[in-house]
Amino acid sequence: MTRENAYLTDKQIAVLKEQLIAEKERIANKKLEEEKYQLDRNELSDPLDEASVNTQTSHDIRFINRENFYLKKINKSLDSITRGTYGLCEECDGEISFERLNARLTAELCIACKEEAEHAENNNFYDKKSKSLGRALHDTVR
Ligand SMILES: [Zn+2]
Repeated sequence: MTRENAYLTDKQIAVLKEQLIAEKERIANKKLEEEKYQLDRNELSDPLDEASVNTQTSHDIRFINRENFYLKKINKSLDSITRGTYGLCEECDGEISFERLNARLTAELCIACKEEAEHAENNNFYDKKSKSLGRALHDTVR
């Protein structure tokens, strides 16, 4: 692939890249704080209070997982800037508008593909409710 975000200007790329890096730093700092907080709390933790600590911990793990997931997407976006594929839809290879990228730095799909994916997700929801019927409908559509 030799395509190089031709539709985005160097300046636009620079703006987006700067924001991605800022986001990355923000998350890294937040994670550091979170880890420090965990350590402090473990030292102070009262065994009698273990139940509430466990509840809190599973909340923290969910939080950290979500941040890690976002961080991975940011790194992927930064990678694709280096490779010159940033802003190209993963699904149809179409161009994702600067406005969309600016609003959602880690967007991997163009609006049309995103809407289609969301639509498919909704269909999956119905699949779960009535699996065989959902699948039959799905096959008919394909
Ligand atoms: Zn697309």
